[in-house]
Amino acid sequence: MASYSSEVKNELTRVTGDDFCCQAAELAALFRMGGAMSIGGQMQLGINFVTENAALARKVLNLIKGKFELKTEVMVSRSRRLKKNNRYMIKVVPAPEVVDLLAALGIMRADGWNDGDDTAICEEECCKRAYLRGAFLGGGSVNRPEGEYHLEMVTENRLFATTIVTMMEGFGFPVGQTERKKDCMIYLKDGDAIMRFLRLIGVEEAMQSFEQVRLVKSVRNKVNRLVNCETANLNKTVMAASRQVAHIKRIDQYIGLENIAPNLREAARLRLAHPEAPLQELVDLMEGRVSKSGMNHRLRKLEKLAEELPGGDIN
Ligand SMILES: [Zn+2]
Repeated sequence: MASYSSEVKNELTRVTGDDFCCQAAELAALFRMGGAMSIGGQMQLGINFVTENAALARKVLNLIKGKFELKTEVMVSRSRRLKKNNRYMIKVVPAPEVVDLLAALGIMRADGWNDGDDTAICEEECCKRAYLRGAFLGGGSVNRPEGEYHLEMVTENRLFATTIVTMMEGFGFPVGQTERKKDCMIYLKDGDAIMRFLRLIGVEEAMQSFEQVRLVKSVRNKVNRLVNCETANLNKTVMAASRQVAHIKRIDQYIGLENIAPNLREAARLRLAHPEAPLQELVDLMEGRVSKSGMNHRLRKLEKLAEELPGGDIN
């Protein structure tokens, strides 16, 4: 079974903003995550982008080719990691025009390199969403909703991480951030926030299963709460019954059950015979001769009686 992450990502590789502003923002974040500069002859710049996701490789290629006439190559190799996935490398061959691409993405500026503060190319909301989509596609993952709610994005670039966090906070997300070896991990732990984030960056289809599971989970929690509540009530019933038994025994000791009013005596004997029965059960045992409130009244009278006995205030 494909992971939920790859399900979400495969959908996202088909989502692209119509405007160049958004495409540039997404590509910039993708390059920050999985790209590296290369230097060719005559110190010309090139870009290598690496991913294990074939659909993402295609998307990056399309984003580059959509606007720029650059020479590209695609290389496929086996990943060195254990899972032995394919590894795709998009190579933007070093050429003078690569500078135009880097300038359009805000990575190269008139005053020099921009190491990861991309706020300037992400002024519009559409671009922010595209940028976060790129960041997630390039370095993110999300747990299947059946498990623990967790979405994360990982990068070594601190400045880039700050850009992502600031942007997410701007959208009101409860973002967490932690260091993991040399990486910086940005995460969301809240089911609602994860749902809202995925939707913000353009996930729709994979959302449905997330929502369904979330619904089932919340119903299950509600049922658990109800069950716990019932257990609590049951405990209360048992406590009340055992207190009543103690009271009745004291009455018997000091006054004698044969000396109290017959309706109280009847209730007292019934309670002694069924020390853990809930009130309704005692009522049922009376076979219609007393109502629930009538029985409750008798038991309360017995308790009151016991409390008036010497040292009677037991609980
Ligand atoms: Zn835009």
